[in-house]
Amino acid sequence: MKSHIESVKDEIQRRDPDQSEFQEAVFTVLDSLAPVLEAHPEYIKANLLSRLVEPERAIQFRVPWQDDEGQFHVNRGFRVQFNSAIGPYKGGLRLHPTVNLSVVKFLGFEQILKNSLTGLPIGGAKGGSDFDPKGKSDSEVMRFCQSFMTELQRHIGPDLDVPAGDIGVGGREIGYLFGAYKRLRGYQNGVLTGKGLTFGGSLARTEATGYGLLYYTNALVKAQGDTLTGKRIKISGSGNVATYAVQKATELGAKVITVSDSNGYIYDPKGIDYKVVQQIKEVERGRIKEYADRVASAEYHGGSVWDFDVDYDIALPCATQNEINKDQAKLIVKDGVKYICEGANMPSYPDAIAVYQDSNILYGPAKAANAGGVAVSALEMSQNSERLSWSFETVDNRLQDIMEDIFEKSEAADKKYQLDKNYQAGANIAGFEKVATAMMAQGLI
Ligand code: NAP
Repeated sequence: MKSHIESVKDEIQRRDPDQSEFQEAVFTVLDSLAPVLEAHPEYIKANLLSRLVEPERAIQFRVPWQDDEGQFHVNRGFRVQFNSAIGPYKGGLRLHPTVNLSVVKFLGFEQILKNSLTGLPIGGAKGGSDFDPKGKSDSEVMRFCQSFMTELQRHIGPDLDVPAGDIGVGGREIGYLFGAYKRLRGYQNGVLTGKGLTFGGSLARTEATGYGLLYYTNALVKAQGDTLTGKRIKISGSGNVATYAVQKATELGAKVITVSDSNGYIYDPKGIDYKVVQQIKEVERGRIKEYADRVASAEYHGGSVWDFDVDYDIALPCATQNEINKDQAKLIVKDGVKYICEGANMPSYPDAIAVYQDSNILYGPAKAANAGGVAVSALEMSQNSERLSWSFETVDNRLQDIMEDIFEKSEAADKKYQLDKNYQAGANIAGFEKVATAMMAQGLI
């Protein structure tokens, strides 16, 4: 088994030696699949893993746009349609200077198993551009989105590929992208999710990833006979996922003591108020530093929140990939953390995960813990298809059921293969089994 997995890894290293993020994501998954291959030698015979790690299609394109001073710029656009074995491609678009093919492939690969875990019929994809929306005017963002969609529209559609938001892509960007698509291809509201509520968006989509993270965390904590009530939580980031994670954690009786951005972090021992974060980041598009000017009990510090030494119970990284290294993971252990669940995609380096697993920390990996966003995106697709809008409560209840089901599936796989509360391997296996069954049934795809 090991040698088969090693040969798949060698091939990736040979073909894409520079794609470090992609390798990191894929190797972690492959390592956890050894017991499944042992139980299913037919997967080895069918060379299923080699097929799974190769995208069905990877599109790269030029995105020319003009700034408010009339200067011309060119960014690079991507869409990686990774796997459609269980449904149309589905996954977000990221606008951030760090976006490259490796980052988009890592996110697209993770999306395959994440989407499978939701139990909904959606395949895996991801896209984006190295455009930085920070500091750009609304008109500049609009011109960029229109140029990006001029090419992307050839490759997407309600039954083909349905993009959504991610870092740097919120309601404003989805609105501009949708408007551009509509001018080119006509009104098809199922082509993007995360839309505004007046043109086919779903209630609770904005909140979904943050809320879903807490529903998953709550299920994990409850399964240990424990409760969220009174727990102190460190959250990183102050974007979409972090904001609504703060809100739901507080509602469930916990106290969130930090939020952050790429410059620094806020520490508020009295508990972060999500409404202040929402006002600064979502409404005013400001920096998290401003929180300390508005809330007397809060302090602002430069640097990473994961270097801040304070006792707490639960870590919820909600900013970006590889934000927690091995030393920071050791500090998490020292600070007495019992649970870590990932709102961001791949926020922990593999050697940080090894530190969690060598301690008594229970670890909820991103593809399980942050699947709430894509789950509600799939519910938005259902509402668009039936031309109906569900109430906030209906969507939120379905989200909660889906997140609890994801935890239960991961736990069941963990028990089946006797992995000793390794919910990361449990999630990888549970997500993989459905995709593998579909791929085997569909012949050589
Ligand atoms: P967002 O609204 O753009 O917020 C991103 C946050 O992370 C901001 O506070 C940002 O700070 C911080 N950040 C970004 N890059 C950073 C870096 N290199 N170092 C430190 N901080 C950094 O994005 P989001 O939608 O909340 O996404 C956050 C994470 O959740 C991402 O990993 C994303 O893939 C994942 N996720 C999102 C969804 C969703 O529905 N939105 C679903 C599943 C997973 P600055 O403002 O300083 O950059």
